[in-house]
Amino acid sequence: MKQILIATRNKGKAEEFKAFFSGYGIKALSLLDLAEEIPDIQETGSTFEENAAIKAEQIANYLSIPVLADDSGLMIDQLDGRPGIYSARYAGDMKDDNANMEKVLNELKTVPGDKRTARFICVLAVAIPGEETIFRTGYCEGSIAFSKKGNNGFGYDPIFVPEGYEETMAEISSEEKNQISHRKHAISHLEDWIKNEIINEKG
Ligand code: IMP
Repeated sequence: MKQILIATRNKGKAEEFKAFFSGYGIKALSLLDLAEEIPDIQETGSTFEENAAIKAEQIANYLSIPVLADDSGLMIDQLDGRPGIYSARYAGDMKDDNANMEKVLNELKTVPGDKRTARFICVLAVAIPGEETIFRTGYCEGSIAFSKKGNNGFGYDPIFVPEGYEETMAEISSEEKNQISHRKHAISHLEDWIKNEIINEKG
């Protein structure tokens, strides 16, 4: 495999994946690099795996090239894993980060600090035309703060305190976040598969 398409229009995510793949001599492109407009894909799955696979497989079939897609979200123990796959639109279809965080804080209003455990999850799916899709998962453990703090990052970062930290994910630098994030862990689990791919091609 010499080239892979990353199914994202998010510049930060695209750069993270490009840096990882370039270490293996694989050129990674994102949807931002394509001249061709890819139709928007509906995430109709009921799990992170299904949603990542839908995105990766539909684009891989459409363009006949290897495609990597990710699906991520926040899982809160006291809320039985919610917001989960509905993380982006937890408070409604307007996908409003502040409204989503307010909803979570409200739902956890009476929950004490030691019971506010949560984790970010990232599932990666790599679809290669004619082959079985492969999956890798990464987590970032932590807990939900009592109020929003910090301006960095996105989504639920201002209310998520990573394990071993006093600050929220929105108070630490993006470099530091990238070292401990669910995406970073999922990407590092891809390493064994990438090495096999390259050895197989050379062998
Ligand atoms: P997506 O899979 O990247 O579209 O993420 C889905 C949703 O999960 C986002 O809209 C955020 O609400 C939440 N999310 C995923 N990753 C993060 C993160 O690193 N920080 C904060 N929120 C996140």
